[in-house]
Amino acid sequence: MSRIAYVNGRYLPFAQATVHVEDRGYQFSDGVYEVCEVRGGRLVDEPLHMRRLQRSLGELKIAMPMSLPALRVVLRETVRRNRVRDGLVYLQVSRGVARRDHPFPPPGTPPSIVVTARSADPSAAERTAAAGIAVITVPENRWERVDIKAIALLPNVLAKQAAKEQGAKEAWFVDPDGYVTEGSSSNAWIISRDGKVITRPAEQGILRGITRSVLLNVLRAQGLELDERPFTREEAYAAREAFVTSASQIVMPVVRIDGRPVGNGAPGMVATALREDFHRHSELI
Ligand code: PLP
Repeated sequence: MSRIAYVNGRYLPFAQATVHVEDRGYQFSDGVYEVCEVRGGRLVDEPLHMRRLQRSLGELKIAMPMSLPALRVVLRETVRRNRVRDGLVYLQVSRGVARRDHPFPPPGTPPSIVVTARSADPSAAERTAAAGIAVITVPENRWERVDIKAIALLPNVLAKQAAKEQGAKEAWFVDPDGYVTEGSSSNAWIISRDGKVITRPAEQGILRGITRSVLLNVLRAQGLELDERPFTREEAYAAREAFVTSASQIVMPVVRIDGRPVGNGAPGMVATALREDFHRHSELI
């Protein structure tokens, strides 16, 4: 079955799904994106993703490409046309097409929008979670506005590649003071030896992950103690458990950091329980 993408008003087979060479997303990475989990054909926590999309666009002064209800229809239609039951839906909005020039294009230039969807194998994800993943640490080298889900992801790409080359699945950025900010495509968490769940506050240095926000409710429901504060790389080395969160991985146990085993080197009990409980607290629409 050929994959279908939604591009600026049309559903097209991938081979014909193209954008203009002077699209600002292509020329300047001048755009934002969202990734939403699809589960049983429904979107997970879509309202929260849509709210963050609107915020990202607002911070960059890019207009919504269409009304929110219309966008929600396009997301579902793209999922349906690609027959995705379990997987991801991806959406990207750029500042549109204009002659290449750094300042914003003339007012009224329509933003561009692309939506794609793809299936993922839930049992493969469970196998990965049962084994846990390795992470490496890399120096933080991103701009300050990581709160915006911008498509400009070069440091993240380089960090992820470095992880891959070292046999790891994720890279954690570490700021000049030695504190972990977040992963290249996930938020970072540890559980201390005394059982506190520690994650960096979303006010500075990280993207406010939707999975992170929902997981805070799961923690509360499970009666776990949350310590929302930055943690150092050394604290992570000494942690009892570690894990990452993102829409594509939900809660993914971390079993090695820079080659050192976390706890006993196996996925932690708390992270595993949080993963199992997550979808009872998320909204499926
Ligand atoms: N941090 C970064 C840099 C990300 O790219 C992502 C997701 O792609 C996240 C955190 C997790 O966000 P969410 O849980 O909304 O997927």
